[in-house]
Amino acid sequence: MIARVLPLTQTRAIKGLFDYILPAELLDGVEIGSLLRVPFAGRVVQAVVAEITITSELPQERLATVTAVLPARLPADLVNLAQWIADEYCSTAARALAVMLPPGATRGLTEKQVLTAVVTEAGREALTDGTRLTEGQKTVLTALAASGAIPAAQLGTATLRRLKSRGLVSLDLAVSSRRPDRHAVSSISAAAPQLTSEQQAALVPIMSAFADLANTLMIGGDAAIAPSPASTFLLHGVTGSGKTEVYLQAAAAALEAGRGVIILVPEIGLTPQALARFEARFGDVVAVLHSGMSEGKRHDEWLRLARGEARVCVGPRSAIFAPMDDIGLIVVDEEHESSYKHEADPRYDARNVAERRAADHGAVLLYGSATPRPESVHASKRLRLHERVDGRALPAVEILDMRGLHHPLHPQTRLALADCRREGGKAIVLLNRRGWSNFLSCASCGRVWMCPNCEVTLVLHRSGGLVACHHCGHREAVPRNCPDCGSVSVSRHGVGTERLEHELATGLATPEFPIFRLDADSSGQDARARTLERFHAVTGGVLVGTQMIAKGHDFADVGLGVVVDADQTMRFPDFRAEERTFAMVTQLAGRTGRGGHGRVLVQTMEPKARPIRLAALHDADGFLNGELQRRRALAYPPFATLVRVVCSSEDDDGAYECATALRRLIDPPGARILGPAPLFMLRGKHRSQLVVKTAERTAAIAAVRSAVDAIAGTKPYRDVSISVDVDPQ
Ligand code: ADP
Ligand code: ZN
Ligand code: ZN
Repeated sequence: MIARVLPLTQTRAIKGLFDYILPAELLDGVEIGSLLRVPFAGRVVQAVVAEITITSELPQERLATVTAVLPARLPADLVNLAQWIADEYCSTAARALAVMLPPGATRGLTEKQVLTAVVTEAGREALTDGTRLTEGQKTVLTALAASGAIPAAQLGTATLRRLKSRGLVSLDLAVSSRRPDRHAVSSISAAAPQLTSEQQAALVPIMSAFADLANTLMIGGDAAIAPSPASTFLLHGVTGSGKTEVYLQAAAAALEAGRGVIILVPEIGLTPQALARFEARFGDVVAVLHSGMSEGKRHDEWLRLARGEARVCVGPRSAIFAPMDDIGLIVVDEEHESSYKHEADPRYDARNVAERRAADHGAVLLYGSATPRPESVHASKRLRLHERVDGRALPAVEILDMRGLHHPLHPQTRLALADCRREGGKAIVLLNRRGWSNFLSCASCGRVWMCPNCEVTLVLHRSGGLVACHHCGHREAVPRNCPDCGSVSVSRHGVGTERLEHELATGLATPEFPIFRLDADSSGQDARARTLERFHAVTGGVLVGTQMIAKGHDFADVGLGVVVDADQTMRFPDFRAEERTFAMVTQLAGRTGRGGHGRVLVQTMEPKARPIRLAALHDADGFLNGELQRRRALAYPPFATLVRVVCSSEDDDGAYECATALRRLIDPPGARILGPAPLFMLRGKHRSQLVVKTAERTAAIAAVRSAVDAIAGTKPYRDVSISVDVDPQ
């Protein structure tokens, strides 16, 4: 037999399938998706089986033989998906496979086996027939008789060895599944509540899509081939409107029909409640996959899914590759979050991969958000939840004009925070900038402290006593004087979360009214989770943080929300800037005032800006309609596809020349090509970018791919790296 394989090498130049002889003694157990070791270009590499055939087009004597078969196996549908991702995102199948393989598989991680003691028949009898036993032996045998099997390490090896030599117990290796901790949250009930009428109405079309898909599957035998808009839904509902409950009931229906469920969430660490609710409702069939877990646990959860022991997978972006057969439902919660895009090759977007996977499996695809993307609004059937479940109104949003003011907080904001303290309430303050101040300059000669590797200013982190680059991580000690002119007056400009926390801590905090901070500097997921718990537990206080604080947390009793610099997201030269600004203000408002009256203050230099004005009016439809019109007029997604090509090199000219050469080669019909345009230097690399804007997605991707293939690695551009990003974020 012949195994046609995809070798797992990172090289872009290696494409397509390679044939190997699969000898009879290795044949057993090899299927599409099996992991092999094969000789390749003078080495032995791992490879994934894509096809098994009887004959090869190549003569037998030119074929090498498979070296070994490894235990891991990827489901066949994922092998196809990897090839699709390679095409869709201008990557290679090997790179796509690398993000889907079972955790640890390439280095041979398998299930953990532990020595386990089991009581024998003679052992059971010994407990009752008067056989002489020491107290220790009696305890062990009794425990074993009660529970069947126990890991030897828990029982004491000396005793066990003696019992074994008398034939009273047997010792064997048994698989011990490493399971992540459950997220038991006592306040979460396992029972499904009575749905509100809006939730009910949203579920109706989802349920009939399940029924339609079941019929199609029965008639056609094969799942739908193209993504079907009829089974793609967008659940657009304000925060607290009960979206998660709709996901839960849709998931219950899929499970009831014997089908699997994937739930994608932006970041598990920030949204443990969502996971806990799935675990509480469905119990042991829920598996979790995320990078915060040890590889062993991920591996074992992966296997539970692959074997069908778990039928619901909850996880971030990469959980879209959960090894499941017959998926009936895929949910993408908070679908507007940019974390669904993978920012390394393959630059896949889990939201689009979800579409592909749903089509392959004949599954319902359900996106959900309070601030959906114009793309999803355009492409899906929209289901609305207008009201919060608790019936409370959304908080009043006030816009505060910051023009001409120098203090980072508007006088009204300071008053509102003081009121909050007096009333013993809670506030969240969002400032999307870490550190103390965002740049330093010399007051005498004007020198600005820049990163030596990137064209950006260094940010002062006072607690760490350093200035740091937020792009490459470069750090220096805080300067005492200017290296250019010797002056000791170094001025600090701008305000970050560290300084804001300090201001509030000195001006506002009391023992009853503490200030917390949450941003990427608060080290580690665990520390962040603890900060959130502490803020949750106090009766009054302030949580200061970056956008992280507006993502998915469910605080029952935050009365005041403040956005310190609402224009921050608008200053990016990006067609999504307005969407991001609208989402930030709306999401913050959604976290505010769930339990009672809420008030949101939005500080801005552009009080008339459309996203800020409409977010203050809670006018999501107005914003989305305007945004879709604008995107149509300017030919931006969803009315066009963008492909971004970035060339980077150590020398200044290389990147630009390479981009220019690509520009000449890329010539798809009906596309506009912008650039080459220089980008700021990053990590010591000069960069130049092209943007292809087209209505003919497939043709444009193919044109970019062939241009890149023609140029990458050729002599003049050997030192230039080229990255292609389809649908850049
Ligand atoms: P969203 O996901 O839209 O933010 P959730 O699903 O988290 O909203 O619902 C908000 C709160 O309302 C949760 O505490 C949830 O348990 C509760 N809830 C949701 N639906 C119902 C319902 N039909 N009856 C009672 N409580 C509900
Ligand atoms: Zn100076
Ligand atoms: Zn840098």
